[in-house]
Amino acid sequence: MKRICFIFCLLFIAYTSKAQQMEWNKNCVIAHRGAWKKNNLPENSIASLKEAIRLKCYGSEFDVHFTKDSVIVVNHDDVYKGLTIAESTYAELSKELQSNGEQIPTLESYLLEGMRQKGTKLILEIKIAKTPEGTIALTDAVVQLVKKLKASAWVEYISFSYPAVLRLLQLDPAAKTAFLAEGKEYVPVEKLKEDHIGQADYHYAIYKEGDWFKKARQQGVTINAWTVNKEEDMRWLIVQKADYITTNEPELLFKVLEKKNDF
Ligand code: MG
Repeated sequence: MKRICFIFCLLFIAYTSKAQQMEWNKNCVIAHRGAWKKNNLPENSIASLKEAIRLKCYGSEFDVHFTKDSVIVVNHDDVYKGLTIAESTYAELSKELQSNGEQIPTLESYLLEGMRQKGTKLILEIKIAKTPEGTIALTDAVVQLVKKLKASAWVEYISFSYPAVLRLLQLDPAAKTAFLAEGKEYVPVEKLKEDHIGQADYHYAIYKEGDWFKKARQQGVTINAWTVNKEEDMRWLIVQKADYITTNEPELLFKVLEKKNDF
């Protein structure tokens, strides 16, 4: 009997720890280009991803580009250390180190690091290339790599390119996608819903006019707002029940969320 109890306990522990591993962090915090600011880490570095994971953010956002020799790398701007990424080989780019000694991450290395855990999602922004065809080629290569690495469960896709988001859904109909916009470039939630795009990921000023939150709930579309770094804007979005808030200040957002019952 003792032995049976012991085996049962072991099975129970194995089951619950597995269940915990499968749970994504339940909060609205997305670290913009990783969690870099407070600790002075390079944006979009593996170190900034690790810090977002350590903070238990729901997501860590990052941006990808093609190098001249078709390696997908993680960087915000299309220029890295004075080198235009699309006109430089990966070997050329990787000679230039970041302030913490890291090389520019490849998408593969970034995904593999993220896949070592299961709390923080990897929010992958497909950057717009020089030509529309270039953006679609990057989209295709990204999805191919994500599938090859079996990383789909970790990844959510975002892009300012509407055709890229539609292409993502063609290639992976189950993918979680969002359209990014600022100014007048936004698309109404009804149109997003019609095109099976699950999220509006807009500059927060867009949400200040109109009935975005009510309409999004009616359509079953989620709302993500960026880049929200001030406490008063965080509070406003929390009161509106924004689904996600993308910020350079994830530590501050966690502190504001702790106080949310008081405002
Ligand atoms: Mg981005």
